[in-house]
Amino acid sequence: MCGIVGYVGEREAVPVLIKGLEHLEYRGYDSAGIACLSHDRSKFFMIKEKGKLAELKAQLNGVPPQMRLGIGHTRWATHGEPSKINAHPHLGRDSRIALVHNGIVENYAELKSELERKGHRFKSKTDTEVAAHLIEYYYRGDLCEALRKAVRRMKGFFAFVAISHDEPNRLFACKRSNPLVIGVGHNEHFVASDVSALLPYTKRVIYLDDDELVELTPDSVRVTQLQKGTKIQKKVSEINWNVEQAQKGGFPHFMLKEIYEQPRVLSETILERIDDKGNIHFELLPKSTVKKLQKIKKIHIVSCGTAYHAGLVANYMMGKYVRLPIEATVSSEFRYEDPIVGPGDLVVLITQSGETADTLAALRLAKEKKALTLAIVNVVGSTIAREADLVIYTQAGPEIGVASTKAYIAQLGTLALFTFYLARLRKTIASQEYRELIGEFRKLPKSAEQVLKQVDDIDRCARKHFHRKNFLYLGRGYNYPTALEGALKLKEISYAHAHGYAAGEMKHGPIALIDEEQLVICIAPQSKTYDKMISNIEEIKARNGLVMAIGTYGSKALSKLADYLFLIPNTPEIFSPILSVITLQVFAYKIAVLNHRDVDQPRNLAKSVTVE
Ligand code: GLU
Repeated sequence: MCGIVGYVGEREAVPVLIKGLEHLEYRGYDSAGIACLSHDRSKFFMIKEKGKLAELKAQLNGVPPQMRLGIGHTRWATHGEPSKINAHPHLGRDSRIALVHNGIVENYAELKSELERKGHRFKSKTDTEVAAHLIEYYYRGDLCEALRKAVRRMKGFFAFVAISHDEPNRLFACKRSNPLVIGVGHNEHFVASDVSALLPYTKRVIYLDDDELVELTPDSVRVTQLQKGTKIQKKVSEINWNVEQAQKGGFPHFMLKEIYEQPRVLSETILERIDDKGNIHFELLPKSTVKKLQKIKKIHIVSCGTAYHAGLVANYMMGKYVRLPIEATVSSEFRYEDPIVGPGDLVVLITQSGETADTLAALRLAKEKKALTLAIVNVVGSTIAREADLVIYTQAGPEIGVASTKAYIAQLGTLALFTFYLARLRKTIASQEYRELIGEFRKLPKSAEQVLKQVDDIDRCARKHFHRKNFLYLGRGYNYPTALEGALKLKEISYAHAHGYAAGEMKHGPIALIDEEQLVICIAPQSKTYDKMISNIEEIKARNGLVMAIGTYGSKALSKLADYLFLIPNTPEIFSPILSVITLQVFAYKIAVLNHRDVDQPRNLAKSVTVE
């Protein structure tokens, strides 16, 4: 899940690499490192440090000038503990090539023994150092050739960026599964794990596909097929994200900024998807798919983490309005359980990054089984977006905080609109109801703003409870996934234990937890199960539990029972998860800050999970 970056051109490479890594640090922060080369071919200039990029930056005094070529890495360790020795870049045996890597060389142990028999000695415990030695072993003055030969010997998946001591004006990169994007500039080229690292320099990019190798000089881009070496023509795309979107803009954390951006995300979803007449548009769904969508017999929704919770909400949405059998599954379960999926099925894959390894594998499996695949993705041009039959982009913009917030809201909004789109195609929704729902959808940005006005009250509640180590979240129907998501947010960034449960299941176990020390967060907006939620809350209060509730304005019974009450404006049940989760995001954020946690980069996590 590492972040990798490379530069060749007329600028000083070191600041470019550091800035690139700043944008990629969300992908991993176990260690960071850079290796650069100047035109005079003196030795590689290489520094690495354990921990975050700040540690590396602190070591940057005395960088020799005139470094015009370089590679950088921010690591999320898979092989070998987070340490300076295991940090990338890694060098070959004779230090002639330097390599950064995102991925796993699965047969590294075998390759390592083979190289050891030939006299190679390794400093680190990483699979990447083995790859560096192997590439250098095949190196005879042409790094393209060496990469081809070495990669032929490797199993697993990778994005590699390499430089050679003997080719001081060239940057080499290749990939299988893990993402790489090339930034095209004037007399300079960049390569990075994703576009956020390129935004300060260029908006013109080339997405590298699997099994492609690129050789970059300041004024040329040469892409070839990795095995055969045949030349490939690539298209230059323009990105429409801007660099401000990827900065904190005065907020103490990206996560808080992103929480506050949610009303705008909803407005942009409306602007992009709903026209003046109330019709829904997905510009990337070709007309030819309409017939296929009309005929589908089953829907699978496949995703991980927060996106899985969006999938669970979609399960309720589509179940109600599309009236087809639907199954929401975690990607890692779907891919290994020989799912019953085939022609006539629609497989919807939800992912912020578009690179999630398990979701990508699930997509490939669904395609193999001839299902129609639809990706709901935030990052334009990402692997899953490019490989799926159909794609709908969410309107979140770059999300940097590791704990997903605005991408979730964007997924929920998009899934609701896709549900109505499908229901209309399949004639399972009456036009009157459709019109009313679209009208209500348009109110969501304002309603989200109103929810955010309660931040100070949420803060006061958090101050009373931030010391607790156990939190229970309950919800029903559409807001059962909200309970799961609220608990996940809290776990991710505060490290407290939090458990989301279907409220109807409380009596089957969790009720044993209730005493005067247990805070139970009950998501109880107006819905068909509101009265049932009230009964659950009565049961908690009867056992002296503490209740923080989320309800709809005007919910009298709830206001009498709850110790803390946060409100959402009135909205149809289908949209209630969009509004109710906002309070839970803020609550998790406040608890984490009060516990002095690293909100944007919580321990052990990385934003885009590109390893299984
Ligand atoms: N396998 C490499 C390491 O552990 C790269 C890890 C990754 O891409 O997540 O250093």
